[in-house]
Amino acid sequence: MPGFEIFGAEERKQVNDVLETGVLMRYGFEGMRNNHWKAKEFETTFAKRMNADYCQLVSSGTAALTVALASAGIGAGDEVIMPTFTFVASFESILALGAVPVLVDIDDTLTLNPEAVEVAITPKTKCVMPVHMCGSMANLRTLKSICEKHDLILLEDACQALGGTYEGKPLGSYGDLGCFSFDYVKTITCGEGGAVITNNKKYALHADHYQDHGHDHIGKDRGAETHPFLGYNFRISELNAAVGLAQLDKLDGILKTQKENYTILREVLETIEGVTFRRVPKGGEENYSFLNFFLPTEELTKKAHKALAEAGVDACFYWFTNNWHYINGWEHLRDLKSLGNLSAEVRSQMQDLNNTDFSKSDAIMGRTISSLIKIGWTEKQVRERAEAMKSAILMAL
Ligand SMILES: *Cc1c(COP(=O)(O)O)cnc(C)c1O
Repeated sequence: MPGFEIFGAEERKQVNDVLETGVLMRYGFEGMRNNHWKAKEFETTFAKRMNADYCQLVSSGTAALTVALASAGIGAGDEVIMPTFTFVASFESILALGAVPVLVDIDDTLTLNPEAVEVAITPKTKCVMPVHMCGSMANLRTLKSICEKHDLILLEDACQALGGTYEGKPLGSYGDLGCFSFDYVKTITCGEGGAVITNNKKYALHADHYQDHGHDHIGKDRGAETHPFLGYNFRISELNAAVGLAQLDKLDGILKTQKENYTILREVLETIEGVTFRRVPKGGEENYSFLNFFLPTEELTKKAHKALAEAGVDACFYWFTNNWHYINGWEHLRDLKSLGNLSAEVRSQMQDLNNTDFSKSDAIMGRTISSLIKIGWTEKQVRERAEAMKSAILMAL
């Protein structure tokens, strides 16, 4: 999914605009900035591309999640339901606010299982956070009806699924709030960056203030602004936003190439008996950043993953034993290892994650392999990769 593969003259030109004036900050300095408002311009363009009324650009995807949660009023002791298969940013953002992550099983969509969500709801639940992992989405229709029934906020983490759609809507725009990451390895990159989108005017205003120390952004004298509520600093710099603007222009091209490369790989793997694919909910279209497939058993999957590596096929991930994305690798969370004391609410309400039954997630993740889809591959390289993957998998089966 990496936009970094096509970093070029367009990005350099955008960054140069900023370097020429030296105004590296997104706010103020109007006389000096030669009319360059890169962060602002990105927000307007991105909101439009995502069919959303508002976009708030911030310093990272993790910051986007934190700002989105804070903007929706989530705080100490509030429970946020999240999946066992995700990136560590999910629980980091929740814990940063003193809120409590509640981990629940995934299903064969590799995202939140709606039935598991329903079972986990308590009077303290405030938010459901599906994470559209590896390019495809959760069953958003079912999750939305659960949220409506229980008066909960639906926050989509679309950091890995930029450009995917559900019922014709861009992922991230279906829930109350959607979050994106533009870190260096995402579909498009700012170097570091993230965004929150929403159609909710109140949340948008909260996000605008919260990510900049609570500044109200009224008038042109920053020093004279008031602070309606407490905030923090999650601002993006103009340099990062400038890179993102050039990348945003390339998004549709990236998605097209991903789909072509994905399709070639998939058509070859489909001919292998025993290989099945991640379920995409009805009405959804992936962004094709990964090809995710299952083998019949955990043992065969481990063998196949090893065979792929030995055959020199790079960028095939077995998340089940990978430190980043699955609860198996999160000893620091399971044992609540923090530098200082965690809040009383977190300590008293957290699940005992070392003794919670996630066998349903294990049964899926133990059988999942994900191949990254690169955009720099030539068609010949993709076809060679497909054949190399097929023979490695057949050897293991
Ligand atoms: C990358 C990512 C994030 C966090 O983004 P950063 O910009 O690296 O902080 C959050 N969620 C998911 C699913 C991600 O892949």
